[in-house]
Amino acid sequence: MSTVDSGNGPIVILLGPPGAGKGTQAKQLATRLGVPAISTGAIFRQNMADETELGQRAREYMDKGEFVPDSVTNPMITARLKAPDTANGCLLDGYPRTVDQARYLRSTLDSMGRKVALVIEIDADEDEVVSRLLKRAQQENRSDDTEPVIRHRMKVYREQTEPMATYYAENDQLAVVDGMGTVEDVWERIDQTLVHAGLVQP
Ligand code: ADP
Repeated sequence: MSTVDSGNGPIVILLGPPGAGKGTQAKQLATRLGVPAISTGAIFRQNMADETELGQRAREYMDKGEFVPDSVTNPMITARLKAPDTANGCLLDGYPRTVDQARYLRSTLDSMGRKVALVIEIDADEDEVVSRLLKRAQQENRSDDTEPVIRHRMKVYREQTEPMATYYAENDQLAVVDGMGTVEDVWERIDQTLVHAGLVQP
C-alpha cells in the first residue's frame, strides 16, 4: 500500500455511500491525522445558508440529488488545496466522487508534487443507510434528505462513485472498511487501517 506523500503530510480520502456515517468519522479521522477535514458537501451547505452565488448554483443540483458540476467543484477544491492550512495534509470527505474528479485531483496534486496517501471506503448495506438517512431527515431537515432524493443519491453513488473506488483499488491505494455496527466499531476499524498504512502510531 502506498503511504508516502512526497515531503508533505498525508492526503487521505474518505468515501462511502450517503448515510454511511462519513461526516462523523471524518471529524475523528482528521483529528487523529492532525490535518483539516475538507467536506465539499459542508462547503456547499454553508454557501447555501449564506446565500452566496456558489450556494445558489449548488442548490439547483443538490436538491435533486445530482452532483454539482465539475466546473464549480474542481476549482473550489484546487483553491482549498493551495491554502496554507492544507500544506501539511488534509482529509477529503466527499471529493473526489467520480473517476473524472479523481483524475483531475491526481493532475492537480502532480503539479504540486503531492499525492494521495490512502483512500478509505466505508462499505455499508443500502437498506440500512436509506433507513438511517430517513431518520436523519426528521432530525436535521436537510433539503436533500427526502426519500426520492435519497434513492437517487444512492443510484448516483453506485453508478459514479463505485467505479472510482475501483480506480483507486487498481493503484493499491484503497482500503475498504466495514461500515456496519456502532460509530465506535467503525472508528476502531478506520483507526486500524491508518496504523496498518503507517500513517499513525498505534
Ligand atoms: P452525502 O454523502 O450524504 O450525499 P454530502 O454532504 O457529501 O452528503 O453531499 C451532498 C451533496 O453535495 C451531493 O449529493 C452533491 O449534490 C453535492 N456534492 C458534494 N460533493 C460533491 C462533489 N465532489 N462533486 C459534486 N457534487 C458534490
